[in-house]
Amino acid sequence: MLKVQNIDVYYGNIQALKGLSLEVNEGEIVTLIGANGAGKSTLLKTLSGLLKPKGGIIEYEGFSIAGKAAQTIVKSGISHVPEGRRVFANMSVEENLELGAYLRNDKAGIKKDMDHVFELFPRLLERRKQQSGTLSGGEQQMLAMGRALMAKPKLLLMDEPSMGLAPLMVKNIFNIIEQVNKEGTTVLLVEQNANMALSVANRAYVLETGRIVLAGSAKELQESEQVKAAYLGGL
Ligand code: ATP
Repeated sequence: MLKVQNIDVYYGNIQALKGLSLEVNEGEIVTLIGANGAGKSTLLKTLSGLLKPKGGIIEYEGFSIAGKAAQTIVKSGISHVPEGRRVFANMSVEENLELGAYLRNDKAGIKKDMDHVFELFPRLLERRKQQSGTLSGGEQQMLAMGRALMAKPKLLLMDEPSMGLAPLMVKNIFNIIEQVNKEGTTVLLVEQNANMALSVANRAYVLETGRIVLAGSAKELQESEQVKAAYLGGL
């Protein structure tokens, strides 16, 4: 579904991604784990069209999307839940969700998907008229995810959904990622919380300073001494 080959991404003179390659197959949850500054967010921003790679190939469903406009990429079925949530604080929950569907015009489908988001996140239904800036961190994460789902994505890019959330809320969010995946959405999940990410993923990549240093099934990585020492608290 998604094939990234040898991409180089720079911020000015600083190279953040160095010949990075990875693949996501339809139906999978793939996770990319790595420490602060490894380049995880940079990869997602590049995939969603916010950054342009200097070299390499990005193919989605057989078409090149490298350097395409973000709007074109959303239309093609890729939706990005950014790090730190970024909901529109002065708008209500409902308005944020409506914005997620701004490129669609199938009214009935939009209504159906909004109902489904409220089924996935009953907390958002209770708070549909509330100003989004006053939601808790966990509720804002739910809203950011709900808003991305309103674009009806085939591929969902999630940037550190666990960040700053209490363990129970992290569990809740990860359960919903699994459910959304079971319903047919492919997921590329970027995480520092390697434990949680590997517990839901089919396959995983480890990113260090802009390069993939390890790849395998989630189970293989959970058992890898290198991953245990560096990312699983040496357990
Ligand atoms: P974190 O988990 O801390 O969010 P990350 O793996 O997502 O880290 P990135 O945000 O992708 O890392 O950053 C990769 C590298 O690129 C870092 O060295 C960072 O300082 C640098 N970088 C990120 N954004 C910019 C920017 N706008 N300008 C210059 N350098 C940047």
